[in-house]
Amino acid sequence: MSHELLVNWQIDVQAYGELQYDVALSQHTTLAVGGNARFYFKPKSIEALQQSLPIIPQDMELFVLGRGSNLLISDNGFDGLILDLGCLQSLAMNQATLRTEAGCRMSKIAQKAASMGYAGLEFMATVPGDLGGGVAMNAGAFGQQVSDTLQHIDIIDRDGNLSILPREQLAMHYRHTVLSHDSIVVSASFLLQEDDANDIRMRMRDMRQQRSQSQPLALPNCGSVFKNPDNDYAARLIEAVGLKGEQRGQAQISEVHANFIVNHGGATANDVLALIRCAQSRVQQQFQIYLEPEVRMLGSMDKENIS
Ligand SMILES: Cc1cc2nc3c(=O)[nH]c(=O)nc-3n(C[C@H](O)[C@H](O)[C@H](O)COP(=O)(O)OP(=O)(O)OC[C@H]3O[C@@H](n4cnc5c(N)ncnc54)[C@H](O)[C@@H]3O)c2cc1C
Repeated sequence: MSHELLVNWQIDVQAYGELQYDVALSQHTTLAVGGNARFYFKPKSIEALQQSLPIIPQDMELFVLGRGSNLLISDNGFDGLILDLGCLQSLAMNQATLRTEAGCRMSKIAQKAASMGYAGLEFMATVPGDLGGGVAMNAGAFGQQVSDTLQHIDIIDRDGNLSILPREQLAMHYRHTVLSHDSIVVSASFLLQEDDANDIRMRMRDMRQQRSQSQPLALPNCGSVFKNPDNDYAARLIEAVGLKGEQRGQAQISEVHANFIVNHGGATANDVLALIRCAQSRVQQQFQIYLEPEVRMLGSMDKENIS
């Protein structure tokens, strides 16, 4: 791309949102790990996103970032454009239908549904991501998941075209949604069940309490690192191979919950990845079970440093 073209799109796109350069992604992930993004763009609205996408060069790699609560980003950063949908905050209910935009925190969505006396999204009170990330991951906990109540999502493709996808087309299952690689989730609708607002709040409170007792929430982390294999728990397997408390640099397999890796301050993506590989290989050796990462990875990792 010529220098002139490179500069022109950057000027044009600023009419639709905030464009930043060389942004530290460690400040945008709950694990507090990751190098810099070359470009970081926050569109003002869904319409602004639609208008800006055709301006961004087609060969620029895009990555949609939510709250960064399920991400391990390379120490080398990302040589493309991070799309931050934090400005998409609309949240409304019409009887049992809740409609929300992608940048809304799941905890806020849970509170809204509870305050209106509608159940089905209580688990969201305990998941620290945004709606877009929740849909992409089919987030869930305490026997609930996004796909239980999701009706449809609105997505925008790389050219800025908006379309509606019903849940049935998303093949959602445990921590999995089929979205084509260039699909940007911009909003979603849920159909909820009427219930007593106080009962719902009590359930959310109990869930939060259980969380704070069983998870290392005081230290930066990315939630469960691995998906639970069929009929078993990743945490049980990791503990059984003696890796609870295992450390690489400033990253550690949590002593509180073995499916969490915590950052004691200054951990690198390579430290975290080394622990991931170590847990996978030990569990494979001892139990012949493959631990599939739940955490998503972005950027190239320096595999030579992994022990
Ligand atoms: C303390 C803690 C507890 C957690 N507990 C749970 C739990 O109980 N259950 C659970 O399921 N998860 C849990 N998680 C993991 C995480 O919160 C969820 O996976 C959440 O859904 C991720 O949302 P996010 O906005 O942070 O997404 P990110 O981490 O920013 O992104 C995750 C993936 O979603 C994609 N994505 C994000 N937004 C969009 C969008 N608008 N369109 C298309 N793709 C998008 C990203 O590109 C990326 O591939 C926990 C994490 C932490 C730190």
